[in-house]
Amino acid sequence: MRNAMKTKSASNFLQNIIDEDLASGRHSEIVTRFPPEPNGYLHIGHAKAISVNFGLAEANGGRCNLRFDDTNPEKECQEYIEGIEADVRWLGYSWDGEVRYASSYFQQLYDWAVYLVEQGDAYVCDLSADEAREYRGTLTEKGRNSLHRERTVAENLDLLARMKAGEFDEGARVLRAKIDMASPNMNMRDPILYRIRKVVHHQTGDNWVIYPTYDFAHGQEDAIEGITHSICTLEFEDHRPLYDWLLEHLPVPARPRQYEFGRLNPSYTVTSKRKLKKLVDDGVVKGWDDPRMPTISGMRRRGYTPAAIRRFCDMIGTTRSDGVVDIAMLEFAIREDLNENAVRGMCVLNPLKVVLTDYPRDKVEELHVSGHPSRDDLGQRVIPFTRDLYIDAEDFREEANKKYKRLVLGKRVRLRNAYVIEADEVIRDAQGNITEVHAHTVPDTLGKDPQDGVKPRGVVHWVSASRGRNAEVRLYERLFNHEAPGKGDNEFMDHINPDALKIVENAWIEPALGEALPEQHFQFEREGYFVADRYDHTPEKPVFNRTIGLRDTWNAG
Ligand code: ATP
Ligand code: MG
Repeated sequence: MRNAMKTKSASNFLQNIIDEDLASGRHSEIVTRFPPEPNGYLHIGHAKAISVNFGLAEANGGRCNLRFDDTNPEKECQEYIEGIEADVRWLGYSWDGEVRYASSYFQQLYDWAVYLVEQGDAYVCDLSADEAREYRGTLTEKGRNSLHRERTVAENLDLLARMKAGEFDEGARVLRAKIDMASPNMNMRDPILYRIRKVVHHQTGDNWVIYPTYDFAHGQEDAIEGITHSICTLEFEDHRPLYDWLLEHLPVPARPRQYEFGRLNPSYTVTSKRKLKKLVDDGVVKGWDDPRMPTISGMRRRGYTPAAIRRFCDMIGTTRSDGVVDIAMLEFAIREDLNENAVRGMCVLNPLKVVLTDYPRDKVEELHVSGHPSRDDLGQRVIPFTRDLYIDAEDFREEANKKYKRLVLGKRVRLRNAYVIEADEVIRDAQGNITEVHAHTVPDTLGKDPQDGVKPRGVVHWVSASRGRNAEVRLYERLFNHEAPGKGDNEFMDHINPDALKIVENAWIEPALGEALPEQHFQFEREGYFVADRYDHTPEKPVFNRTIGLRDTWNAG
Protein backbone atom coordinates (compact mmCIF):
# COMPACT_ATOMS: atom_id res chain seq x y z
CA MET A 1 0.00 0.00 0.00
CA ARG A 2 2.72 2.38 1.00
CA ASN A 3 4.52 1.92 -2.28
CA ALA A 4 1.40 2.44 -4.30
CA MET A 5 0.90 5.74 -2.56
CA LYS A 6 4.41 6.87 -3.24
CA THR A 7 3.89 6.75 -6.98
CA LYS A 8 3.50 10.20 -8.44
CA SER A 9 -0.21 10.21 -9.07
CA ALA A 10 -2.91 7.83 -10.07
CA SER A 11 -3.82 7.88 -13.75
CA ASN A 12 -6.05 10.74 -14.69
CA PHE A 13 -8.61 10.29 -17.45
CA LEU A 14 -8.90 14.07 -17.77
CA GLN A 15 -5.24 14.36 -18.70
CA ASN A 16 -5.85 11.79 -21.44
CA ILE A 17 -8.68 13.90 -22.85
CA ILE A 18 -6.48 16.98 -22.78
CA ASP A 19 -3.66 15.11 -24.50
CA GLU A 20 -6.01 14.14 -27.31
CA ASP A 21 -7.40 17.67 -27.65
CA LEU A 22 -3.92 19.13 -27.90
CA ALA A 23 -2.78 16.44 -30.33
CA SER A 24 -5.80 16.85 -32.62
CA GLY A 25 -5.49 20.63 -32.57
CA ARG A 26 -8.96 21.14 -31.09
CA HIS A 27 -7.25 23.37 -28.52
CA SER A 28 -3.85 24.97 -28.44
CA GLU A 29 -4.15 26.15 -24.85
CA ILE A 30 -5.96 24.57 -21.90
CA VAL A 31 -8.25 26.86 -19.92
CA THR A 32 -10.10 25.56 -16.85
CA ARG A 33 -11.99 27.23 -14.03
CA PHE A 34 -12.86 26.59 -10.41
CA PRO A 35 -16.43 27.82 -9.87
CA PRO A 36 -17.40 27.89 -6.18
CA GLU A 37 -20.69 29.26 -5.01
CA PRO A 38 -19.92 31.76 -2.22
CA ASN A 39 -22.45 30.23 0.17
CA GLY A 40 -19.97 28.78 2.66
CA TYR A 41 -16.29 28.08 3.18
CA LEU A 42 -14.46 25.52 1.07
CA HIS A 43 -13.96 21.97 2.32
CA ILE A 44 -11.64 19.08 1.53
CA GLY A 45 -13.84 18.11 -1.45
CA HIS A 46 -13.28 21.53 -2.94
CA ALA A 47 -9.55 21.10 -2.38
CA LYS A 48 -9.83 18.14 -4.73
CA ALA A 49 -11.72 20.18 -7.33
CA ILE A 50 -9.14 22.98 -6.98
CA SER A 51 -6.26 20.59 -7.41
CA VAL A 52 -7.91 19.05 -10.48
CA ASN A 53 -8.68 22.36 -12.19
CA PHE A 54 -5.60 24.36 -11.24
CA GLY A 55 -3.43 21.26 -11.43
CA LEU A 56 -4.44 20.40 -15.01
CA ALA A 57 -3.94 23.99 -16.13
CA GLU A 58 -0.52 24.06 -14.45
CA ALA A 59 0.54 20.68 -15.84
CA ASN A 60 -0.39 21.70 -19.38
CA GLY A 61 0.94 25.25 -19.42
CA GLY A 62 -2.60 26.59 -19.42
CA ARG A 63 -4.69 28.91 -17.26
CA CYS A 64 -7.32 28.47 -14.59
CA ASN A 65 -9.93 31.06 -13.63
CA LEU A 66 -11.48 31.54 -10.23
CA ARG A 67 -15.12 32.28 -10.88
CA PHE A 68 -17.73 32.84 -8.22
CA ASP A 69 -20.92 31.15 -9.24
CA ASP A 70 -23.05 33.79 -7.54
CA THR A 71 -26.52 33.25 -8.95
CA ASN A 72 -28.26 32.58 -5.59
CA PRO A 73 -27.88 35.88 -3.76
CA GLU A 74 -29.91 34.97 -0.69
CA LYS A 75 -27.37 32.42 0.55
CA GLU A 76 -24.21 34.19 -0.53
CA CYS A 77 -22.04 36.89 1.00
CA GLN A 78 -18.76 38.79 0.74
CA GLU A 79 -17.26 37.04 3.77
CA TYR A 80 -17.39 33.72 1.92
CA ILE A 81 -15.87 35.27 -1.20
CA GLU A 82 -12.87 36.52 0.75
CA GLY A 83 -12.53 33.24 2.62
CA ILE A 84 -12.55 31.24 -0.61
CA GLU A 85 -9.91 33.46 -2.24
CA ALA A 86 -7.69 33.08 0.81
CA ASP A 87 -8.11 29.30 0.79
CA VAL A 88 -7.17 28.95 -2.89
CA ARG A 89 -4.11 31.16 -2.39
CA TRP A 90 -3.09 29.26 0.73
CA LEU A 91 -3.22 25.99 -1.20
CA GLY A 92 -0.61 27.58 -3.44
CA TYR A 93 -2.57 28.22 -6.62
CA SER A 94 -3.00 31.46 -8.53
CA TRP A 95 -5.88 32.17 -10.81
CA ASP A 96 -5.56 33.80 -14.17
CA GLY A 97 -6.21 37.56 -14.11
CA GLU A 98 -8.89 39.05 -11.91
CA VAL A 99 -11.37 37.04 -9.90
CA ARG A 100 -14.49 36.51 -12.01
CA TYR A 101 -18.13 36.54 -11.08
CA ALA A 102 -21.14 34.98 -12.76
CA SER A 103 -22.91 38.19 -11.79
CA SER A 104 -20.67 40.29 -14.02
CA TYR A 105 -22.20 38.44 -16.99
CA PHE A 106 -25.82 39.07 -16.00
CA GLN A 107 -26.46 41.55 -18.82
CA GLN A 108 -24.95 39.24 -21.45
CA LEU A 109 -26.93 36.30 -20.07
CA TYR A 110 -30.10 38.34 -20.21
CA ASP A 111 -29.39 39.36 -23.78
CA TRP A 112 -28.98 35.68 -24.65
CA ALA A 113 -32.24 34.88 -22.93
CA VAL A 114 -33.89 37.46 -25.19
CA TYR A 115 -32.16 35.82 -28.15
CA LEU A 116 -33.60 32.41 -27.23
CA VAL A 117 -37.06 33.93 -26.98
CA GLU A 118 -36.62 35.57 -30.38
CA GLN A 119 -35.60 32.24 -31.87
CA GLY A 120 -38.69 30.59 -30.40
CA ASP A 121 -36.49 28.54 -28.05
CA ALA A 122 -37.72 29.94 -24.73
CA TYR A 123 -41.00 31.09 -23.24
CA VAL A 124 -42.42 32.70 -20.13
CA CYS A 125 -44.44 30.25 -18.08
CA ASP A 126 -46.96 31.15 -15.38
CA LEU A 127 -47.40 27.72 -13.80
CA SER A 128 -47.06 27.71 -10.02
CA ALA A 129 -44.25 25.62 -8.57
CA ASP A 130 -46.71 22.87 -7.65
CA GLU A 131 -48.29 22.83 -11.10
CA ALA A 132 -44.91 22.85 -12.78
CA ARG A 133 -43.87 19.84 -10.72
CA GLU A 134 -47.00 17.98 -11.75
CA TYR A 135 -46.57 18.86 -15.43
CA ARG A 136 -42.97 17.79 -15.34
CA GLY A 137 -43.82 14.09 -15.07
CA THR A 138 -41.55 11.52 -13.47
CA LEU A 139 -38.67 9.31 -14.45
CA THR A 140 -41.14 6.76 -15.78
CA GLU A 141 -43.79 9.15 -17.03
CA LYS A 142 -43.53 11.82 -19.71
CA GLY A 143 -44.20 15.42 -18.83
CA ARG A 144 -46.97 17.57 -20.30
CA ASN A 145 -46.60 20.84 -22.13
CA SER A 146 -47.34 23.96 -20.18
CA LEU A 147 -50.39 25.87 -21.38
CA HIS A 148 -48.06 28.84 -21.90
CA ARG A 149 -45.67 27.01 -24.15
CA GLU A 150 -47.16 28.37 -27.37
CA ARG A 151 -47.08 32.05 -26.48
CA THR A 152 -45.95 34.26 -29.34
CA VAL A 153 -42.45 35.65 -29.47
CA ALA A 154 -43.85 39.15 -29.01
CA GLU A 155 -45.80 38.17 -25.91
CA ASN A 156 -42.78 36.35 -24.43
CA LEU A 157 -40.50 39.33 -25.09
CA ASP A 158 -42.98 41.63 -23.40
CA LEU A 159 -43.40 39.36 -20.36
CA LEU A 160 -39.67 38.77 -19.99
CA ALA A 161 -38.99 42.52 -20.08
CA ARG A 162 -41.66 43.04 -17.44
CA MET A 163 -40.21 40.25 -15.27
CA LYS A 164 -36.91 42.10 -15.45
CA ALA A 165 -38.62 45.40 -14.65
CA GLY A 166 -39.99 43.92 -11.42
CA GLU A 167 -43.66 43.97 -12.37
CA PHE A 168 -44.37 40.45 -11.09
CA ASP A 169 -44.06 38.76 -7.72
CA GLU A 170 -41.53 36.08 -6.91
CA GLY A 171 -42.75 32.74 -8.20
CA ALA A 172 -45.37 34.29 -10.49
CA ARG A 173 -43.50 33.59 -13.70
CA VAL A 174 -40.30 31.94 -14.94
CA LEU A 175 -38.48 31.82 -18.26
CA ARG A 176 -38.11 28.28 -19.59
CA ALA A 177 -36.22 26.76 -22.48
CA LYS A 178 -38.49 25.12 -25.02
CA ILE A 179 -36.93 21.70 -25.46
CA ASP A 180 -38.89 18.49 -24.92
CA MET A 181 -41.35 17.63 -22.16
CA ALA A 182 -41.14 13.98 -23.20
CA SER A 183 -37.37 13.72 -22.90
CA PRO A 184 -36.19 10.79 -20.80
CA ASN A 185 -33.74 13.28 -19.25
CA MET A 186 -35.70 15.39 -16.77
CA ASN A 187 -33.23 18.25 -17.20
CA MET A 188 -34.39 18.63 -20.80
CA ARG A 189 -38.08 19.01 -19.91
CA ASP A 190 -38.27 22.74 -20.54
CA PRO A 191 -35.83 23.70 -17.76
CA ILE A 192 -36.08 27.02 -15.98
CA LEU A 193 -33.62 29.66 -17.21
CA TYR A 194 -34.66 32.66 -15.10
CA ARG A 195 -36.60 33.10 -11.89
CA ILE A 196 -37.81 36.18 -10.06
CA ARG A 197 -35.93 36.90 -6.80
CA LYS A 198 -36.43 40.27 -5.22
CA VAL A 199 -33.27 40.23 -3.16
CA VAL A 200 -30.26 42.48 -3.06
CA HIS A 201 -27.20 40.84 -4.56
CA HIS A 202 -23.78 41.19 -2.88
CA GLN A 203 -22.19 42.28 -6.18
CA THR A 204 -24.96 43.83 -8.27
CA GLY A 205 -27.06 45.39 -5.51
CA ASP A 206 -30.66 45.90 -6.58
CA ASN A 207 -29.92 46.04 -10.33
CA TRP A 208 -31.63 42.72 -10.89
CA VAL A 209 -34.84 41.10 -9.69
CA ILE A 210 -34.50 38.10 -12.00
CA TYR A 211 -31.59 35.71 -11.70
CA PRO A 212 -30.36 33.01 -14.11
CA THR A 213 -30.33 29.40 -12.96
CA TYR A 214 -27.09 27.47 -12.66
CA ASP A 215 -27.90 25.65 -15.88
CA PHE A 216 -28.45 28.81 -17.87
CA ALA A 217 -25.42 30.54 -16.42
CA HIS A 218 -22.70 27.96 -16.31
CA GLY A 219 -21.97 26.92 -19.87
CA GLN A 220 -22.44 30.45 -21.20
CA GLU A 221 -19.95 31.78 -18.64
CA ASP A 222 -17.53 29.07 -19.69
CA ALA A 223 -17.96 30.22 -23.30
CA ILE A 224 -17.41 33.89 -22.42
CA GLU A 225 -14.19 33.03 -20.60
CA GLY A 226 -12.95 30.68 -23.31
CA ILE A 227 -12.89 27.72 -20.97
CA THR A 228 -11.84 24.64 -22.91
CA HIS A 229 -12.52 21.95 -20.29
CA SER A 230 -15.33 22.63 -17.84
CA ILE A 231 -14.69 20.06 -15.16
CA CYS A 232 -17.32 19.31 -12.55
CA THR A 233 -18.54 16.46 -10.39
CA LEU A 234 -20.71 13.55 -11.47
CA GLU A 235 -24.04 14.94 -10.28
CA PHE A 236 -23.86 17.26 -13.29
CA GLU A 237 -23.58 14.44 -15.80
CA ASP A 238 -27.33 14.52 -16.51
CA HIS A 239 -27.10 18.26 -17.04
CA ARG A 240 -24.55 17.89 -19.83
CA PRO A 241 -27.15 17.54 -22.64
CA LEU A 242 -28.64 20.84 -21.50
CA TYR A 243 -25.20 22.42 -21.27
CA ASP A 244 -24.61 21.39 -24.88
CA TRP A 245 -28.10 22.36 -26.06
CA LEU A 246 -27.75 25.91 -24.78
CA LEU A 247 -24.30 26.37 -26.32
CA GLU A 248 -25.63 25.07 -29.63
CA HIS A 249 -28.64 27.39 -29.59
CA LEU A 250 -26.83 30.59 -28.61
CA PRO A 251 -24.35 32.81 -30.51
CA VAL A 252 -21.60 32.17 -27.95
CA PRO A 253 -17.97 33.05 -28.72
CA ALA A 254 -16.51 29.60 -27.93
CA ARG A 255 -17.49 25.99 -27.47
CA PRO A 256 -16.44 24.63 -24.05
CA ARG A 257 -17.07 21.00 -23.10
CA GLN A 258 -18.10 19.59 -19.77
CA TYR A 259 -16.39 16.60 -18.14
CA GLU A 260 -17.33 15.00 -14.84
CA PHE A 261 -15.34 13.21 -12.15
CA GLY A 262 -16.33 11.50 -8.90
CA ARG A 263 -16.75 13.60 -5.77
CA LEU A 264 -14.29 13.12 -2.98
CA ASN A 265 -16.01 11.63 0.06
CA PRO A 266 -13.51 10.92 2.83
CA SER A 267 -14.56 8.57 5.63
CA TYR A 268 -15.35 10.10 9.06
CA THR A 269 -16.15 13.38 7.32
CA VAL A 270 -19.05 15.33 5.89
CA THR A 271 -18.46 17.34 2.73
CA SER A 272 -21.57 19.38 2.27
CA LYS A 273 -21.64 23.09 2.93
CA ARG A 274 -25.17 22.74 4.24
CA LYS A 275 -24.07 20.27 6.91
CA LEU A 276 -20.92 22.21 7.75
CA LYS A 277 -22.98 25.35 8.15
CA LYS A 278 -25.26 23.51 10.54
CA LEU A 279 -22.28 22.51 12.69
CA VAL A 280 -21.32 26.19 12.87
CA ASP A 281 -24.85 27.54 13.37
CA ASP A 282 -25.65 25.00 16.09
CA GLY A 283 -22.43 25.78 17.94
CA VAL A 284 -21.06 22.25 17.66
CA VAL A 285 -17.81 23.87 16.53
CA LYS A 286 -16.52 27.40 17.06
CA GLY A 287 -16.68 28.54 13.44
CA TRP A 288 -15.95 27.50 9.88
CA ASP A 289 -12.24 27.46 10.67
CA ASP A 290 -12.50 25.41 13.84
CA PRO A 291 -9.65 22.88 13.68
CA ARG A 292 -12.18 20.03 13.86
CA MET A 293 -13.79 21.13 10.60
CA PRO A 294 -12.90 19.53 7.25
CA THR A 295 -12.85 23.01 5.75
CA ILE A 296 -9.64 24.23 4.17
CA SER A 297 -9.45 27.01 6.78
CA GLY A 298 -10.14 24.49 9.57
CA MET A 299 -7.46 22.11 8.33
CA ARG A 300 -5.08 25.05 8.08
CA ARG A 301 -5.71 26.01 11.69
CA ARG A 302 -5.37 22.39 12.72
CA GLY A 303 -1.87 22.36 11.24
CA TYR A 304 -2.41 20.59 7.93
CA THR A 305 -0.11 21.92 5.22
CA PRO A 306 -0.90 22.84 1.61
CA ALA A 307 1.72 20.31 0.50
CA ALA A 308 0.01 17.48 2.40
CA ILE A 309 -3.45 18.38 1.11
CA ARG A 310 -2.19 18.61 -2.46
CA ARG A 311 -0.33 15.35 -2.09
CA PHE A 312 -3.46 13.65 -0.78
CA CYS A 313 -5.50 14.94 -3.73
CA ASP A 314 -2.84 13.57 -6.04
CA MET A 315 -2.62 10.22 -4.28
CA ILE A 316 -6.33 9.45 -4.53
CA GLY A 317 -6.41 10.10 -8.26
CA THR A 318 -9.30 11.40 -10.33
CA THR A 319 -11.86 8.88 -11.46
CA ARG A 320 -15.36 8.68 -12.83
CA SER A 321 -16.80 6.91 -9.80
CA ASP A 322 -18.02 8.19 -6.46
CA GLY A 323 -16.28 6.22 -3.77
CA VAL A 324 -15.34 6.72 -0.16
CA VAL A 325 -11.69 7.52 0.45
CA ASP A 326 -10.10 6.45 3.72
CA ILE A 327 -9.42 9.60 5.76
CA ALA A 328 -6.30 7.82 7.00
CA MET A 329 -4.75 8.58 3.60
CA LEU A 330 -4.96 12.29 4.37
CA GLU A 331 -3.54 11.62 7.82
CA PHE A 332 -0.73 9.65 6.20
CA ALA A 333 0.04 12.58 3.92
CA ILE A 334 0.24 15.07 6.76
CA ARG A 335 2.39 12.80 8.91
CA GLU A 336 4.75 12.22 6.03
CA ASP A 337 5.12 15.95 5.37
CA LEU A 338 5.57 16.94 9.00
CA ASN A 339 7.90 14.06 9.82
CA GLU A 340 10.15 15.43 7.12
CA ASN A 341 9.74 19.13 7.76
CA ALA A 342 8.66 19.88 11.34
CA VAL A 343 11.23 20.96 13.92
CA ARG A 344 11.30 18.77 17.02
CA GLY A 345 10.48 19.97 20.49
CA MET A 346 9.45 18.70 23.90
CA CYS A 347 6.13 19.32 25.56
CA VAL A 348 4.80 17.64 28.69
CA LEU A 349 1.03 17.37 28.55
CA ASN A 350 0.37 15.87 31.98
CA PRO A 351 3.15 17.21 34.19
CA LEU A 352 4.65 15.34 37.13
CA LYS A 353 7.52 17.08 38.93
CA VAL A 354 10.86 15.33 39.17
CA VAL A 355 13.48 16.78 41.54
CA LEU A 356 17.07 15.74 40.89
CA THR A 357 18.33 15.84 44.45
CA ASP A 358 22.01 15.61 43.47
CA TYR A 359 21.82 18.46 40.96
CA PRO A 360 22.74 21.94 42.23
CA ARG A 361 19.70 24.12 42.88
CA ASP A 362 20.76 27.09 40.70
CA LYS A 363 22.65 25.25 38.00
CA VAL A 364 21.43 25.56 34.39
CA GLU A 365 23.07 23.58 31.62
CA GLU A 366 22.28 24.63 28.10
CA LEU A 367 21.97 21.55 25.95
CA HIS A 368 22.41 22.08 22.22
CA VAL A 369 20.21 19.74 20.32
CA SER A 370 19.47 19.38 16.63
CA GLY A 371 16.16 20.75 15.43
CA HIS A 372 15.51 17.65 13.34
CA PRO A 373 17.23 14.26 13.37
CA SER A 374 18.05 14.25 9.64
CA ARG A 375 17.79 17.90 8.60
CA ASP A 376 20.82 19.98 9.55
CA ASP A 377 19.31 22.91 7.69
CA LEU A 378 16.64 23.14 10.40
CA GLY A 379 19.30 24.28 12.85
CA GLN A 380 19.83 23.69 16.55
CA ARG A 381 17.81 24.44 19.61
CA VAL A 382 18.97 25.16 23.14
CA ILE A 383 17.26 23.35 26.00
CA PRO A 384 17.93 24.35 29.60
CA PHE A 385 18.51 21.46 32.00
CA THR A 386 17.80 22.12 35.68
CA ARG A 387 17.26 20.39 39.03
CA ASP A 388 13.46 20.59 38.83
CA LEU A 389 11.86 19.06 35.77
CA TYR A 390 8.51 17.86 34.52
CA ILE A 391 7.93 14.52 32.92
CA ASP A 392 4.57 13.12 31.88
CA ALA A 393 2.68 11.44 34.71
CA GLU A 394 2.16 8.50 32.33
CA ASP A 395 5.91 8.03 32.21
CA PHE A 396 6.28 7.12 35.90
CA ARG A 397 5.15 4.15 37.97
CA GLU A 398 6.13 3.10 41.41
CA GLU A 399 6.24 -0.50 40.27
CA ALA A 400 6.06 -2.09 36.87
CA ASN A 401 7.24 -5.17 35.01
CA LYS A 402 9.98 -5.09 32.38
CA LYS A 403 7.59 -4.26 29.55
CA TYR A 404 7.18 -0.77 30.96
CA LYS A 405 9.96 1.20 29.28
CA ARG A 406 9.70 4.33 31.38
CA LEU A 407 10.65 5.54 34.85
CA VAL A 408 10.05 3.19 37.80
CA LEU A 409 11.08 3.62 41.42
CA GLY A 410 14.60 2.30 41.86
CA LYS A 411 15.13 2.07 38.07
CA ARG A 412 16.66 4.19 35.37
CA VAL A 413 15.38 6.05 32.37
CA ARG A 414 17.05 8.40 29.93
CA LEU A 415 15.76 11.94 29.71
CA ARG A 416 15.58 12.64 26.01
CA ASN A 417 18.66 14.58 24.82
CA ALA A 418 19.99 14.67 28.43
CA TYR A 419 21.08 12.50 31.37
CA VAL A 420 20.08 9.09 32.58
CA ILE A 421 18.30 9.40 35.92
CA GLU A 422 17.28 6.92 38.60
CA ALA A 423 14.12 7.35 40.71
CA ASP A 424 14.57 7.18 44.50
CA GLU A 425 11.40 8.18 46.25
CA VAL A 426 7.89 9.62 45.81
CA ILE A 427 6.44 12.57 47.72
CA ARG A 428 2.69 12.59 48.38
CA ASP A 429 0.11 15.15 49.37
CA ALA A 430 -2.37 14.72 52.23
CA GLN A 431 -4.69 12.72 49.96
CA GLY A 432 -1.92 10.33 49.06
CA ASN A 433 -1.45 11.57 45.48
CA ILE A 434 2.08 11.60 44.17
CA THR A 435 3.18 15.22 43.83
CA GLU A 436 6.88 14.75 43.15
CA VAL A 437 9.39 12.11 42.31
CA HIS A 438 12.83 12.48 43.78
CA ALA A 439 15.60 11.10 41.63
CA HIS A 440 19.29 11.54 40.93
CA THR A 441 21.36 11.76 37.79
CA VAL A 442 23.65 8.92 36.82
CA PRO A 443 27.09 10.55 36.41
CA ASP A 444 28.61 11.18 33.01
CA THR A 445 25.62 10.03 31.00
CA LEU A 446 25.17 13.05 28.74
CA GLY A 447 25.27 11.39 25.35
CA LYS A 448 26.89 8.28 26.91
CA ASP A 449 25.76 5.01 28.44
CA PRO A 450 26.14 4.55 32.20
CA GLN A 451 29.62 3.27 33.08
CA ASP A 452 28.29 0.64 35.47
CA GLY A 453 26.59 -1.07 32.55
CA VAL A 454 23.06 -0.70 34.01
CA LYS A 455 21.09 0.50 31.00
CA PRO A 456 18.06 2.80 31.24
CA ARG A 457 14.71 1.16 30.48
CA GLY A 458 13.75 3.70 27.87
CA VAL A 459 13.70 7.37 26.92
CA VAL A 460 11.18 9.92 28.13
CA HIS A 461 10.66 13.55 27.25
CA TRP A 462 10.86 16.31 29.86
CA VAL A 463 10.84 20.07 30.33
CA SER A 464 12.68 22.21 32.87
CA ALA A 465 10.22 23.29 35.57
CA SER A 466 12.08 26.51 36.31
CA ARG A 467 12.94 27.50 32.74
CA GLY A 468 10.12 25.89 30.76
CA ARG A 469 6.92 27.67 29.81
CA ASN A 470 3.34 27.01 30.58
CA ALA A 471 1.18 26.43 27.49
CA GLU A 472 -2.34 25.60 26.45
CA VAL A 473 -2.53 22.58 24.19
CA ARG A 474 -5.68 21.67 22.30
CA LEU A 475 -5.92 17.99 21.54
CA TYR A 476 -8.05 17.29 18.49
CA GLU A 477 -9.52 14.04 17.28
CA ARG A 478 -11.79 13.24 14.33
CA LEU A 479 -15.05 15.18 14.51
CA PHE A 480 -17.17 12.11 13.79
CA ASN A 481 -16.93 8.74 15.46
CA HIS A 482 -18.58 6.86 12.59
CA GLU A 483 -16.91 6.25 9.24
CA ALA A 484 -20.09 7.29 7.43
CA PRO A 485 -21.70 10.04 9.54
CA GLY A 486 -25.48 9.78 9.31
CA LYS A 487 -25.47 6.22 8.03
CA GLY A 488 -28.62 4.17 8.46
CA ASP A 489 -31.44 5.84 10.34
CA ASN A 490 -29.12 8.34 11.96
CA GLU A 491 -28.67 12.04 11.42
CA PHE A 492 -25.09 13.03 10.71
CA MET A 493 -25.22 14.97 13.98
CA ASP A 494 -25.80 11.70 15.88
CA HIS A 495 -22.26 10.68 15.04
CA ILE A 496 -20.46 13.71 16.47
CA ASN A 497 -17.45 12.63 18.52
CA PRO A 498 -17.90 14.41 21.88
CA ASP A 499 -14.18 13.99 22.58
CA ALA A 500 -12.98 15.66 19.39
CA LEU A 501 -11.48 18.47 21.48
CA LYS A 502 -9.75 18.18 24.83
CA ILE A 503 -8.05 21.28 26.18
CA VAL A 504 -4.93 20.90 28.30
CA GLU A 505 -4.47 24.19 30.14
CA ASN A 506 -1.34 23.29 32.01
CA ALA A 507 1.14 21.78 29.61
CA TRP A 508 4.87 22.61 29.82
CA ILE A 509 7.00 23.41 26.81
CA GLU A 510 10.68 24.05 26.15
CA PRO A 511 11.21 27.80 26.47
CA ALA A 512 12.12 28.17 22.78
CA LEU A 513 8.66 26.94 21.77
CA GLY A 514 7.17 30.04 23.37
CA GLU A 515 8.87 32.03 20.61
CA ALA A 516 7.20 29.97 17.88
CA LEU A 517 5.42 31.95 15.21
CA PRO A 518 1.72 31.37 14.68
CA GLU A 519 1.26 28.50 12.21
CA GLN A 520 4.73 27.09 12.84
CA HIS A 521 4.72 23.28 12.87
CA PHE A 522 6.46 21.00 15.36
CA GLN A 523 6.81 17.43 16.29
CA PHE A 524 6.49 17.24 20.05
CA GLU A 525 8.62 14.21 20.71
CA ARG A 526 6.64 11.10 21.66
CA GLU A 527 3.35 13.06 21.42
CA GLY A 528 2.59 13.98 17.85
CA TYR A 529 2.54 16.89 15.43
CA PHE A 530 1.44 20.28 16.68
CA VAL A 531 1.05 23.79 15.32
CA ALA A 532 1.15 27.15 17.08
CA ASP A 533 -2.42 28.40 16.84
CA ARG A 534 -2.91 30.84 14.00
CA TYR A 535 -4.94 33.29 16.10
CA ASP A 536 -4.51 32.61 19.81
CA HIS A 537 -0.81 31.80 20.18
CA THR A 538 1.35 34.59 21.65
CA PRO A 539 4.75 34.57 23.37
CA GLU A 540 2.91 35.51 26.59
CA LYS A 541 0.42 32.69 26.29
CA PRO A 542 1.57 29.92 23.97
CA VAL A 543 -1.25 27.88 22.42
CA PHE A 544 -0.68 24.75 20.33
CA ASN A 545 -3.09 22.56 18.38
CA ARG A 546 -2.50 18.88 17.88
CA THR A 547 -2.57 18.27 14.15
CA ILE A 548 -2.24 14.49 14.32
CA GLY A 549 -0.77 11.85 16.58
CA LEU A 550 2.49 10.13 15.74
CA ARG A 551 1.15 6.69 15.26
CA ASP A 552 0.33 5.66 11.76
CA THR A 553 -2.38 3.16 12.53
CA TRP A 554 -3.55 3.07 8.93
CA ASN A 555 -0.17 2.07 7.56
CA ALA A 556 0.32 -0.49 10.30
CA GLY A 557 -2.73 -2.44 9.08
P1 ATP B 1 -21.54 21.36 -1.42
O1 ATP B 1 -22.30 20.14 -1.82
O2 ATP B 1 -20.52 21.13 -0.38
O3 ATP B 1 -22.39 22.54 -1.13
P2 ATP B 1 -21.16 22.33 -4.03
O4 ATP B 1 -20.88 21.39 -5.13
O5 ATP B 1 -22.50 22.90 -3.95
O6 ATP B 1 -20.68 21.67 -2.69
P3 ATP B 1 -19.76 24.51 -5.16
O7 ATP B 1 -19.31 25.75 -4.52
O8 ATP B 1 -20.83 24.57 -6.17
O9 ATP B 1 -20.14 23.52 -4.01
O10 ATP B 1 -18.51 23.70 -5.74
C1 ATP B 1 -17.52 24.27 -6.54
C2 ATP B 1 -16.85 23.16 -7.28
O11 ATP B 1 -16.31 22.21 -6.38
C3 ATP B 1 -17.84 22.40 -8.17
O12 ATP B 1 -17.25 22.21 -9.42
C4 ATP B 1 -18.04 21.11 -7.45
O13 ATP B 1 -18.30 20.09 -8.36
C5 ATP B 1 -16.71 20.92 -6.72
N1 ATP B 1 -16.89 20.09 -5.53
C6 ATP B 1 -17.73 20.31 -4.50
N2 ATP B 1 -17.68 19.31 -3.62
C7 ATP B 1 -16.77 18.41 -4.09
C8 ATP B 1 -16.27 17.15 -3.64
N3 ATP B 1 -16.69 16.60 -2.50
N4 ATP B 1 -15.34 16.52 -4.39
C9 ATP B 1 -14.89 17.07 -5.51
N5 ATP B 1 -15.33 18.25 -6.00
C10 ATP B 1 -16.25 18.92 -5.31
MG1 MG C 1 -23.06 23.77 -6.05
